Amino acid sequence: MDAPIKKPVLYIVIPCYNEEKVLPETKPMFLKTLQDMIQENKISEDSRVLFVNDGSKDDTWNLIKEYAGEEKHILGLSLSRNRGHQNALFAGLMTAKEVADITISIDCDGQDDMAAMSEMVDEYLSGSQIVYGVRSERKTDTFFKRATAQGFYKVMAKMGADVIYNHADYRLMSREALEALAQFKEVHLFLRGMAPLVGFRYSCVYYERAERIAGESHYPLKKMLSFAFNGISSFSTKPIRMITGLGFLICVISLIAIVATIVQKLYGVTVGGWSSLLCCILFLGGIQLLSLGVIGEYVGKIYMETKERPRFIISEGTEGVTPAVDRR
Ligand code: UDP
Ligand code: MG
Repeated sequence: MDAPIKKPVLYIVIPCYNEEKVLPETKPMFLKTLQDMIQENKISEDSRVLFVNDGSKDDTWNLIKEYAGEEKHILGLSLSRNRGHQNALFAGLMTAKEVADITISIDCDGQDDMAAMSEMVDEYLSGSQIVYGVRSERKTDTFFKRATAQGFYKVMAKMGADVIYNHADYRLMSREALEALAQFKEVHLFLRGMAPLVGFRYSCVYYERAERIAGESHYPLKKMLSFAFNGISSFSTKPIRMITGLGFLICVISLIAIVATIVQKLYGVTVGGWSSLLCCILFLGGIQLLSLGVIGEYVGKIYMETKERPRFIISEGTEGVTPAVDRR
């Protein structure tokens, strides 16, 4: 028989940006979920809820400090400025991995069903190093959000970035998995694409996504598109290869057009041709600019990556937290 497994220390890592409306509602829910699991003897008494304030402009950090002051199961961390969801989450995970056996990352808006956490821990106990929370339905999202989000996963897959369909950042990761993640040196974080690259044994837990409890989404269409493109360009060079393919295709078409023109000339049918010529020039000009833009995106990314700027800078932590430093 296997030796009895030591109860794991769980850190629930929650990035928060301008969430003063949501936190008072969801904090008790997170705390209860954690305490229930402690009661059930599933996780260690040393488990914690770790809120990461991503440079909020409202009262979020004060709220977190207040919660940490009154409840020992709550800890807080504050970034020196707003760095975005992925970086805030990463800062939390890197801090947590020093003390926790497992972490579960989740948004603070209550959209992801907290009941799934217990199932995630079960999956970990039966040997998975990474457990993905996957949305089984998207009933509560608007048609637009649902369509764009699902399009996102499909395009990502087509472009060669290996992401789990309908999984966002609700995920359990063991310390081993996090140690491996810490070896990824890229500045542009796209955690849901990086986790599958970490490998190890994984499994999925399904849940229904609810509506935001309060406040508004920080991911309007424009930010979602930029997030998607960031994901694609971080994980695959397919767009550049597609440009090569497109260039090849246009060469073939123009060869045919040249032959056709010569034949027409030989038969003496040399009419105007001004509009077709202009169309070709505009079309090719457009494609060239677009292609340059895509290639430029990659060059820009290389430029930003070579700077090797820290991916997070933590300015403060509540009592008992040793903030991580991004050393690469
Ligand atoms: N968030 C963050 N920094 C940001 C934007 C968002 O830490 O710059 C957090 C936010 O507080 C939330 C999570 O990331 O916990 C997801 O954001 P949101 O719910 O707005 O996105 P959606 O669920 O609509 O995609
Ligand atoms: Mg949300």
